[in-house]
Amino acid sequence: MLSTHLLKLMVFGFIPFACMQKNVSADKTAAISSTKNGTAVPAEDLDVKNLETATLAGGCFWKMDACYQELSGVAKVAVGYAGGNLANPTYKQVCTRTTGHAETIEVQFDPKVVSYKTILEVFWQIHDATILNQEGNDRGDDYRSVVYYHSDAQRATAEAVKAQVNSSNLQGAPVVTTVEAFKNFYRAEDYHQNYYNLHQDEPYCATIVAAKVNKFMKLYHDSLKRNKVAKNTSTSNVFPDKIEKVVKTPEAWQKSLTKQQYYVLREKGTESPFKNAFWDNHEKGVYACAACQLPLFDADAKFESGTGWPSFYQAIRKNYVTEISDKSHGMTRVEVNCARCDGHLGHIFDDGPKPTGLRYCINSESLTFEKK
Ligand SMILES: [Zn+2]
Repeated sequence: MLSTHLLKLMVFGFIPFACMQKNVSADKTAAISSTKNGTAVPAEDLDVKNLETATLAGGCFWKMDACYQELSGVAKVAVGYAGGNLANPTYKQVCTRTTGHAETIEVQFDPKVVSYKTILEVFWQIHDATILNQEGNDRGDDYRSVVYYHSDAQRATAEAVKAQVNSSNLQGAPVVTTVEAFKNFYRAEDYHQNYYNLHQDEPYCATIVAAKVNKFMKLYHDSLKRNKVAKNTSTSNVFPDKIEKVVKTPEAWQKSLTKQQYYVLREKGTESPFKNAFWDNHEKGVYACAACQLPLFDADAKFESGTGWPSFYQAIRKNYVTEISDKSHGMTRVEVNCARCDGHLGHIFDDGPKPTGLRYCINSESLTFEKK
């Protein structure tokens, strides 16, 4: 089994043979990270002026990032390095294990929605802290377990939760996590941010990281942003979680779609603004994929964007659409496709309204509309 350390070195080209295979992937990540989030985990209406910060080291930071992003009450997660002696270290420097840094995440959360105590309970659920300087297969002091507290209150809570973890024997052995005063945190390179969500198909993410994320999602099911937002969406229970892929030849698609639909959906075309069916439609109902009829957007999530294209702040379900980096026409954008038939829908931007802050800018040609 590859350690995360070795894998990351391979992925980002520090080991030459892998460099050639994976450069594209790192490049893509950097492009998407330039948007606010790169993934459509729904944002919440939080008190952003009164956020509290938790700084935690718990092994590979990709997994930590992926879990906390999903937790209700968390406004922002950044991955980086803490506890070392060098200012603004690079990943390569940290990997030499001479700088003293640990892979660390910085979680900004709204304490009125999620408590620091819960943040810490999650922390000890999602990493193995029983062996010094080791987490799973990842060995080295950069994978050590530390709570960096920002106040006396955080320190007291950390000591109390740690004592509880040990008295309940949560991890089957005492945890060796240290509780230390926060000194510094340096944000890691963009390609490490939101890594899991952007590389879920890579073997390490699909196995080791996914296992931890899935465990977290089960344990904290009712505390996930997606479930809290879904509860407020009238259509949330009508649509199944799993979707069957629809795959057809270009000839078959040509037969079932109009010329314009084919141009947009299969050739990634863009229709004219203000001269399309739904940009100005204000009726209640559901918009589905014109190619495979998968329901994609509820009219309740539609808003007036002024662009001349139908715009939505969220999809009916996160997994009903896929997002990929699009560098065509000299721009870097995130393309949105139908997850069932891979038909092109439009693009996603991070300048939308609450509650998600997202704008799905969609071609009418990609949609059909069913009135409620
Ligand atoms: Zn479709």
